Amino acid sequence: MKNNKFHYKCNDCGAHYQPDEVKYLCPVCAAKNTLSQPPKGVLKTVYNYKKLIENNTDFDALKENDFLELSPIQSTKSLPNLRVGKTPLYQQKSIDKKELPFNVFLKDDSQNPTYSFKDRASAIVSAYAKEQGFDTIVAASTGNAGSSLAGICAAQKQKAIVLVPESAPKAKLTQILMYGARIVPVKGTYDDAFDLSIKATEEFGWYNRNTAFNPLTIEGKKTVSFELFEQLNYKVPDRIFVPVGDGVIISGVYKGFEDLLKLNMIKKMPCIVAVQSKGSANLIHNINKEEFEVKPSDTIADSISVDIPRNFYMARDFIHKYKGEVLAVADEAIIQASGVLSKNSGLFAEPAAATAFAGFLSYFNDQKLLDNSNNVVLLTGSGLKDLNSVQEIIELPKAIEPSLKEMKKLLEII
Ligand SMILES: [Zn+2]
Repeated sequence: MKNNKFHYKCNDCGAHYQPDEVKYLCPVCAAKNTLSQPPKGVLKTVYNYKKLIENNTDFDALKENDFLELSPIQSTKSLPNLRVGKTPLYQQKSIDKKELPFNVFLKDDSQNPTYSFKDRASAIVSAYAKEQGFDTIVAASTGNAGSSLAGICAAQKQKAIVLVPESAPKAKLTQILMYGARIVPVKGTYDDAFDLSIKATEEFGWYNRNTAFNPLTIEGKKTVSFELFEQLNYKVPDRIFVPVGDGVIISGVYKGFEDLLKLNMIKKMPCIVAVQSKGSANLIHNINKEEFEVKPSDTIADSISVDIPRNFYMARDFIHKYKGEVLAVADEAIIQASGVLSKNSGLFAEPAAATAFAGFLSYFNDQKLLDNSNNVVLLTGSGLKDLNSVQEIIELPKAIEPSLKEMKKLLEII
């Protein structure tokens, strides 16, 4: 099916491509890529903004049509019959009984079908694959993208092949298998799995969902920005705290608001805070460097544990262009933040998502948030996906005899 509603623009050299011409990276930039550097040539999807402005299209009209004018797919009928996105936004009014002088909202994307933000990308990629006649989709994943692809493909009657590094948490691998996907554990890191998946795509003619390779994952991820704008009563939040690994989610959040900016539907961009784990902060370390330097990752936040951020250049460009901020938080702060979040909100987030909340807490403690400002924390995945990481802050009591006396002792009721 020919698709004339959008084209691609290379983030690095600016070349334009039609979607039937190039599917993944800009071939000119990609030819110079090496395994030790972040890839260049990630494509940005560009729509006919001028036409939409001329037609006086407003936000509500876009919403009425499920934002199809800003989507690479032809019809919403190609999407899975699952509720993807449209996740709740909860205001958190106090923390540890302290009233907050500003507004903070928690965007709970663990409410997606496979319990993570990644479903936004998988749904669009799967729908596009369907329209283009692909029946097999492959992805490399540390877990969430893979379980997401597996679940969405199950709903869509498509085949999913997921390459995972052997260290991926068992809960996520279990989820992938339960959805009926084929799993390929790969010795080495996420990057090794990523490179093998690209070779397999070329060899077998499958469609590839890899982030920062397939440009459409960003188009799926950007839908969160449209939702935030609407849920905040057509206001752009002052700050959004986003967990960052390979830089695709943050690029998705930027892209959604940038689309609205190009359509004159918003006047300013939000300040987006890229929060990384100190044990895997390769985007932050390199944000102002000429030459990219890799530091090996070691963090409990497995979803954002990345040696080479695959979407480094686009994320960096967005952060520079729209004056974003960056912050690295220690693993201990992530685990603590996870507990504070759960106890105060009733939301149980995985470590990567708790990283964003840890970033918010750091800003709060340093009094960097203005009174009455609107702040959002993007919670990208459910804590049930990685129960091991929080074991150190919980203590499971030993069983007692079934007597009130022992129960009182355990609960310290005098
Ligand atoms: Zn290029």
